[in-house]
Amino acid sequence: MKVTRLPVDPGPAAWSEILNPVPVRAPLAEDCTADWIIIGAGFAGLSAAQRLSELCPNANIVVLEASRVAYGPAGRNSGFMIDLPHDLSSKNYSGDTDKDRLEIRLNRAGIAYAKSLCARFGASDEAFTLSGKINGAITSRGVHHNDAYARCLDALHEPYERLGAGRMRELTGTESYIDGLFTPGTAMIQPAAYLRSLADGIESNAVRLYELSPVVELNRVGSSWQARTSKGTVTAAKVILCVNGHLQSFGFQQRKLMHVFTYASMTRRMNAQEIMTLAGKRNWGITPADPLGTTVRRISGDGGDRIIIRNRATFDSSMVVDDTRLKAVAKQHAKSFKNRFPMLPKLDMEYCWGGRLCLSRNNVPVFGEIDNGVYSACCQNGLGTVKGTIAGKLAAELACGVPSELLDHMNSVAETKALPPEPLATLGATAMLRWGEFKAGQEL
Ligand SMILES: Cc1cc2nc3c(=O)[nH]c(=O)nc-3n(C[C@H](O)[C@H](O)[C@H](O)COP(=O)(O)OP(=O)(O)OC[C@H]3O[C@@H](n4cnc5c(N)ncnc54)[C@H](O)[C@@H]3O)c2cc1C
Repeated sequence: MKVTRLPVDPGPAAWSEILNPVPVRAPLAEDCTADWIIIGAGFAGLSAAQRLSELCPNANIVVLEASRVAYGPAGRNSGFMIDLPHDLSSKNYSGDTDKDRLEIRLNRAGIAYAKSLCARFGASDEAFTLSGKINGAITSRGVHHNDAYARCLDALHEPYERLGAGRMRELTGTESYIDGLFTPGTAMIQPAAYLRSLADGIESNAVRLYELSPVVELNRVGSSWQARTSKGTVTAAKVILCVNGHLQSFGFQQRKLMHVFTYASMTRRMNAQEIMTLAGKRNWGITPADPLGTTVRRISGDGGDRIIIRNRATFDSSMVVDDTRLKAVAKQHAKSFKNRFPMLPKLDMEYCWGGRLCLSRNNVPVFGEIDNGVYSACCQNGLGTVKGTIAGKLAAELACGVPSELLDHMNSVAETKALPPEPLATLGATAMLRWGEFKAGQEL
């Protein structure tokens, strides 16, 4: 089957740009065989490759990545590995208590696996730190969202702490936040540093990882599968697809996946004077109390002291967005930044970028054996840092026949629901997003 669309990533991959450059891994340029082919080297692909090499130490594993490690969506996010329910299409991130409990178990297993890999591969604290995170509110509407989320956490018996305006100012240096809800289980990552550690780690296990190697065809050849790139082929008995929304480009889940872009901007390095003016702590992360508000991160590390703003979401079934969109979003980011940090009028954004998310209408992943010998660890519903990690790990376990309770849970999730026909799907989703962002008001 021909792959109908290849990934296009809008704007720079800032988390990689602010680190020391690393050489490109050579693209696939031969016809070869392997035991396993993994397509996609994001959270799901790298975790699947690592887990396979743990379970089958002598197996011949090939990973094919269209772009470079940490240049696709995995290297374009805000770096929150969240343990709690984070349903972006809900009012308060959570919903049904039983489903939420299951989600928490899976998310925590993802974070625990990521943590163990970071320890094993010697990743820095900047790459991965279990620090918790705060849902921040700027308006009384945001405070209501935090109140509602607190009630959900009470029902789940999950710990949290409410922070008043004073503590929010001490933490962030800005007076903008009037309320915060701290939960302790989130890990913060520098996505590029984290993914680089994982990629180097799996290569030390003798996994072959090819960058700039988009798979353009995936065909059955006898009892095996052959992945074709522009310069070579790999033939193997089993394939794990870790391409998130591009699963559709491989012919699966037609009219069942929602392709949403979200966007972020990162400031230039702050100078010493700006760091003093801002005050507050040097590393923190705030997700918005209103799911359609603004995520903000303050980082201090190898790439300097910077602030990252993330907001806006657009439904793009074409899986492509243009520069005009990025320019419009950059304006919103500058506004959201100035509203929060009026004390830093000269601190401009250095980077603005977008990245794809893949959601299903009923918030379920596409997981399991989707064709004979082809496994999917796709459709992460927005929280791919953790969901991709655990889905990749469990897909490897499923393919190797290693049973577990978590695998039973993953296998028990419902099928993805079909989307309405076009143009209804695009019109409906776009109207919902715009209305939600309008209602978010100053939280944006
Ligand atoms: C601005 C922004 C902020 C975000 N913030 C967060 C956050 O704080 N926390 C969180 O959990 N999530 C966040 N996300 C979402 C998160 O980045 C994704 O959910 C996650 O990257 C999905 O991981 P994945 O490994 O499943 O897929 P991806 O990261 O999309 O990886 C799939 C890989 O497959 C490759 N690929 C696709 N087609 C082919 C092909 N034909 N051949 C070879 N390779 C192919 C792609 O190049 C890509 O590298 C954010 C996203 C964005 C854009």
